[in-house]
Amino acid sequence: MIQLYDTSARAVRPFLPIDPRRITLYVCGPTVWNQAHIGNARPPVVFDVLVRLLRQHYGADSVVYARNITDVDDKINAAATALDDDQPMNARIAAITKKYEAIYLDDMAALGVAPPTLAPHATAHIDSIVAFIADLIAGGFAYEAEGHVLFEVARYADYGALSGRSLDDMIAGARVEVAPYKRAPADFVLWKPSSADQPGWESPWGIGRPGWHIECSAMIREELGVTIDIHGGGQDLIFPHHENEIAQSACANHAPLANYWMHNGFLSMDREKMSKSLGNVKLVGDILDQLVARYNTTRAAAGEIVRLALLSAHYRQPLDWSDDLVERCKAILDGFYQTLRDTAGLQAATPDPGVLAALADDLNTPEAVSALHGLRSRLEAARRAGDDTTQPRSALLASAALLGLLQIDPEAWFTASEGAGLTPEDIEARIAARAAAKQARDFATADRIRDALKAQGVELQDGPSGVTWRRV
Ligand code: AMP
Ligand code: ZN
Repeated sequence: MIQLYDTSARAVRPFLPIDPRRITLYVCGPTVWNQAHIGNARPPVVFDVLVRLLRQHYGADSVVYARNITDVDDKINAAATALDDDQPMNARIAAITKKYEAIYLDDMAALGVAPPTLAPHATAHIDSIVAFIADLIAGGFAYEAEGHVLFEVARYADYGALSGRSLDDMIAGARVEVAPYKRAPADFVLWKPSSADQPGWESPWGIGRPGWHIECSAMIREELGVTIDIHGGGQDLIFPHHENEIAQSACANHAPLANYWMHNGFLSMDREKMSKSLGNVKLVGDILDQLVARYNTTRAAAGEIVRLALLSAHYRQPLDWSDDLVERCKAILDGFYQTLRDTAGLQAATPDPGVLAALADDLNTPEAVSALHGLRSRLEAARRAGDDTTQPRSALLASAALLGLLQIDPEAWFTASEGAGLTPEDIEARIAARAAAKQARDFATADRIRDALKAQGVELQDGPSGVTWRRV
């Protein structure tokens, strides 16, 4: 039985899915206006482990995991305005969102994050967003004012239940936008008017664009259903983003949005929260490049070091990023790969019960890694005794796969010839990133991805029915 900490209950609860043959999970994804920093990588890596665990328990086809792409946002508009080129605004916006989505997918692929089942884009769901807002107005939960549509927080009695704080406390602790057209300061925007140089869509309330919170509620309803099993994100999203998602969905659907709410803790540097506004960010792409150079290794190997570092603390605890942490993770992986290189044998195996139990205990990844060390000791003992190492070696690999670790060919780990270490999933993820770059006419990025794959022994062939690949 999997146990998960539910923010809403403020307790660890046994996980009971609505339908064990179709478990639904939604994680708030990136706003694609710039590159992800290493803090932004924590949610996708953590929830990737959760998905692996759920698939192990319930079957690979029984989990539907959606991670959205927010591709309409005022930060994107600002970045497009700042671009120094003479293309029209909508072309610039498309160029920015496609470019940073491609980079995001490429970064995540390097960290061994499997692509989600669904990656809904906000701009592809405007009709559902408009319909959702219309439902809220019809139910008397939202009102129109000066071209805006606002959600009236006073109409939802349970507002604040997720964080267990009063409305006044929440407002005091966050920046709540004051505007003359609001009935109350906490009321939030569902739809806002767009000027000619802002992205806009026809709606009953004039040409405009959606607010951020409503996107997730509408995409969840359309893609996954009215009530999902698990909703996740970083702790900073609890208020206002998730409180707002809950309020909208409860009022429009007369049903709860999610049965379990999971939030990862923050990544810091020198004990200070890593954030774009503080300016202390380390980009995922830069960290990978630095590790490739420092250790004279491959991007996949660098990605695995970063992944282990991200999983080295329990996901609800803070994690302080440092060179020291990265060094330690590199040394740990060297040890594992040394043992794997010195031993032989691989057969289909189930993960070790100790590793499974640790992960089933609210994703206790530090405990799971320590169980991996135990498996390594067993494998080393078999090697020293001259026994057949197939069973312990296979158990170690199957268990590490649950964490997305030890995915690289041991020989390649040490010789830096990466091609053998690329899994088909890695390759597919990079092909998707390249396609997104090409669509954005960012041919430099597309070529970089193709060349990087080639250097790793994977050749792409563009054909009429899509891209195929082969190892050379
Ligand atoms: P943002 O681009 O700020 O919307 O963040 C995207 C995701 O990264 C959200 O789920 C945030 O909660 C998460 N996030 C942002 N900064 C950090 C951090 N320093 N540590 C962990 N998660 C973070
Ligand atoms: Zn969301």
